[in-house]
Amino acid sequence: MKDECGVFGVFGIEDAARLAYLGLYALQHRGEESAGIVSLDAGHFYVVKEMGLVSDVFHEDNLSYLKGKTAIGHVRYSTTGSNNINNIQPLYSKTAKGKLAIAHNGNLTNAFTIYKRLKEEGALFQSTVDSETILHLIARSKEKSVTAAFQKALAEVQGAYSLVCLGENFLMAARDPYGFRPLVLGRLEDGYIVTSETCALDLIGAEYVREIENGEMIYIDDTGITSFRIPVVAKPAFCVFEHVYFSRPDSLVFGENVHLVRKEFGKTLAREYPIDADLVMAIPDSGNSAALGYAQESGIPFEIGMTRNHYVGRTFIQPNQKIRDFNVKVKLNPISSVLKGKRVVVIDDSLVRGTTSKQRVAAIRKAGASEVHLRISSPPVMFPCHFGIDTPKREKLIATQKTLEEIRRFVGADSLGYLSREGMLASISNIKSDKFCTACFDGNYPLKVQDKGKYTFEKRNINLYAQKG
Ligand code: AMP
Repeated sequence: MKDECGVFGVFGIEDAARLAYLGLYALQHRGEESAGIVSLDAGHFYVVKEMGLVSDVFHEDNLSYLKGKTAIGHVRYSTTGSNNINNIQPLYSKTAKGKLAIAHNGNLTNAFTIYKRLKEEGALFQSTVDSETILHLIARSKEKSVTAAFQKALAEVQGAYSLVCLGENFLMAARDPYGFRPLVLGRLEDGYIVTSETCALDLIGAEYVREIENGEMIYIDDTGITSFRIPVVAKPAFCVFEHVYFSRPDSLVFGENVHLVRKEFGKTLAREYPIDADLVMAIPDSGNSAALGYAQESGIPFEIGMTRNHYVGRTFIQPNQKIRDFNVKVKLNPISSVLKGKRVVVIDDSLVRGTTSKQRVAAIRKAGASEVHLRISSPPVMFPCHFGIDTPKREKLIATQKTLEEIRRFVGADSLGYLSREGMLASISNIKSDKFCTACFDGNYPLKVQDKGKYTFEKRNINLYAQKG
C-alpha cells in the first residue's frame, strides 16, 4: 500500500501527546486522511486514531486520555474507506518483546513477499499496511534484545522507511539505508523529538539537533541515546520530490531549506526557459517559491495572479446547479484585475497528469491574460514512485503519452518549459547530485523493486491522487 505520511515521536517530556498533536498539525500536509497517537505511561499504551484531519481527530477529552511523557504519532493518506480503521497508524501489538507501536513513512518494496511468507507460517495480520510486516518480524525474532531484533527486521525489509517505534520504556527511530524520506532529531527540555520535518520542531519550540542518518537506527531510553547501523550497504538516494513538492517550504530537508531550494529551481528555470512577459505568478501554494526565484532571475515583476481558499478540505458538497469548473474555482481564483491584457509566466512545481494544469491555464486565460507561458520547476514526471510518493500509473502520466508540443497544446499554454534534471540537481547546492533518487523523472530506481505493484495487499478502491486535485 502506498502511503504519503508524516511521523512524530516524543521521549521524556510532560504532556507528550499534546506535543505530538501539535507536531502532527505541522505535518498535516504529509497526510490528510487519518491521524493517530499512541502514548506510554507506566508501561501502558493509550491509543487514539481515526480517519480525518488532525483537528477533527483530537480534542481536549481524548488528549487528556493520552497520558505520559512519551508518545508517537502519525498522519497519512489512506487508500481505503473509513471502515478500514485497522490501517490507521500507529499500529500496535503485544509481542514477546513487550508492547510495541510503530508509525512509518515510506513504502516497503518487498512487503508483499514477507507478508505472504509470514501468513503461510500462521501469522495473523491486523491490517493491510506494509508497515505491519516490521512488527511481525520483530515479534518473531529469536534475538534477545529488542534493538538486535529491530536491526534484523530492518535488514530484511526493502524500500523506504522513516519510522518511529514505541516500546514499554523506550522510543526507537530508524531511516532506511537509502534515506529516501527525511527524519530529524530534536531536543526539548530534557527530552527528545524525532519527526519527519523540522517545521514540526519549530512549532513546539524544540531545537533541531541533526538528521537521523540514512541507515541509522537510534534507541532512546532514560539513560540517553544510542545509535546503531542497519547492516545493509546502500548508496544514499534522498527523494528529490520532497524538495520539489512534498515537504513544507519552512522545513530543513536533507539539511537544506525547502523554500530556498525551490527558489533556486525557479532561478535556474528562468535561465533555461526565458520569455518576454509582463508578470510572473505562481500556482499557489506549490509554485510560490519557484515563482519568486523566476521573477528575481528574469527581472519580470512577481504578482499574485491567483488566490487560494485555504479552508477547502478534501471533500466538499457539490452544488446542485451546474457551475463550470467548480472543482478548480472552489480552491483557486484568478485575479482578473491583475491579469487582464497581461503576458503571464505561470509557475507550478510539477506536471503529473496535466489535467489540473489544463484547467488552471484556462482559468487564467479566461480572467483576461493575453499570453500564458507555463513553466514547471521540475522535469517531466515519467515513472511511478515505489518509495512513498503517490503517483498515478505510468500511462496516466502525461509526459509518457505526449511530446512536449502535444503537452503544451493539451494544457493550452502559449509556451511550456520544464526545469531540466541537471538544472534541478545543480540548484540543490550542498548535497552532491548523486545522492538523490530521481526515479520519478528518469526511471533510475536505486534498488530493484521486488514486489512491483503487488505490495498493494488490497485493491485500492479510491484513487486518492485524483481526489486531491
Ligand atoms: P496534474 O499535472 O494535473 O496531475 O497536477 C499537478 C499538480 O498536482 C501540481 O500542482 C502539484 O503541485 C500537484 N502534485 C504533484 N504531485 C502530487 C502528489 N503526489 N499528490 C498530490 N498532488 C500532487
